[in-house]
Amino acid sequence: MKHDIIIIGAGPAGLSFAREMAETGLNIVLLEKQPKSVLANPPYDGREIALTHLSRKIMGDLGMWDLVPNEKISLIKTAKVLNGSSPYALSFDHEEAGEETLGFMISNNQIRKAAYESLAGYKNIHILSEKEVSTLGTDQEKGWVELSSGERLEALLIIAADSRFSATRRMMGISTSMLDFGRTCIVCTMSAELPHHETAYECFHFDRTLAVLPLNNNQVSIVITLGSEESAQVLEMSKEAFAADIERRFEGRLGTMKLTSELFPYPLVATFAKTFCANRFALIGDAAVGMHPVTAHGFNLGLRGAHTLAKEIKNALQTGSDYASQTVLQRYSNAHRRASAPLFHGTNALVKLYTKDTPAAKFVRRTLLRVGNRLKPAKRLIMNQLTENKAA
Ligand SMILES: Cc1cc2nc3c(=O)[nH]c(=O)nc-3n(C[C@H](O)[C@H](O)[C@H](O)COP(=O)(O)OP(=O)(O)OC[C@H]3O[C@@H](n4cnc5c(N)ncnc54)[C@H](O)[C@@H]3O)c2cc1C
Repeated sequence: MKHDIIIIGAGPAGLSFAREMAETGLNIVLLEKQPKSVLANPPYDGREIALTHLSRKIMGDLGMWDLVPNEKISLIKTAKVLNGSSPYALSFDHEEAGEETLGFMISNNQIRKAAYESLAGYKNIHILSEKEVSTLGTDQEKGWVELSSGERLEALLIIAADSRFSATRRMMGISTSMLDFGRTCIVCTMSAELPHHETAYECFHFDRTLAVLPLNNNQVSIVITLGSEESAQVLEMSKEAFAADIERRFEGRLGTMKLTSELFPYPLVATFAKTFCANRFALIGDAAVGMHPVTAHGFNLGLRGAHTLAKEIKNALQTGSDYASQTVLQRYSNAHRRASAPLFHGTNALVKLYTKDTPAAKFVRRTLLRVGNRLKPAKRLIMNQLTENKAA
């Protein structure tokens, strides 16, 4: 069967891109291996996504923001970065940024749910669930995919949004830089005794990092990164022992804490594809750039990339040119690489610096926090990057 665009993967990036394209009237098919019941009601996966002002704007324009119930959106008004056991913090505040909030927190499953619901009523968008791509290819005129069920679909353009471990990226021969940190990220939610005052903390301890992010009802999202061997021990801990350990590592800043979800582990592997496009084929979301979660940019970048690609395709449609041409796709690839490469490499350098415990690394860490606080232009630059408020 012939379509205009095939999107592989109905994760948040694939769904957002489909919504970006919905009003063009193009015939679009989204292929997803999970069942429709999961797309309609994705289960909680522990990820609480910190969203920038730019993401808020894009989600608003796509009608996704209003589909998230208000009580499911939390605000980050202040952010503090702590180094080791020092009480000195690099601080950012929403008032300094001239904004009502530095950023927003919405759980990953709520974002997926809203993105899925935003496609309701578009007759030109066909979501085919429980379909797994087993092979694909492209030539000068078209692309095709074959499903594990044996079906074959064709389209003028194929978009891969099938995660950082994208199998279709590999099938198209696109090589990818992979940085396996040999570490694991564990996420969960906890309730706190003392008010968090909508403050996010990033604590760079020497053996692990601990992020404590504010959620509504005085809950917090906990993000720990640690050695994979140690993570196996943490996952075995009783609820009480885990809570007591976090309380101690967080030095009692929020009083007594209680675990309110299960613990969700994620392997820490960052990926950056060598190119984001090939003949009649493009990568979006984590399939293009899989970020380390410490700077909370993964989905923000995914959304931005989907928006950039959609804009290039819409421009081509307006001028009547081939929207799947190499020129169009290369323009997207170049623009999105310019936006994401500094964040990707900067994040990885930060992770390396803050997990080393050599005297030189400790000195640089201390100095960076103090310089960051005192050098106003540098601070403003970091704040603009983190909040993307100037890009919105
Ligand atoms: C612990 C953690 C915390 C994070 N925190 C933040 C944050 O604060 N801010 C932020 O912006 N980002 C954050 N992220 C990143 C964010 O979660 C990801 O960037 C985002 O979920 C990626 O979406 P995606 O649609 O590209 O990929 P995915 O969510 O991986 O979706 C891929 C989809 O493709 C489907 N699929 C895969 N292969 C096939 C196939 N062969 N055929 C059919 N379907 C297929 C899968 O079933 C899935 O539905 C975090 C990530 C982690 C792990």
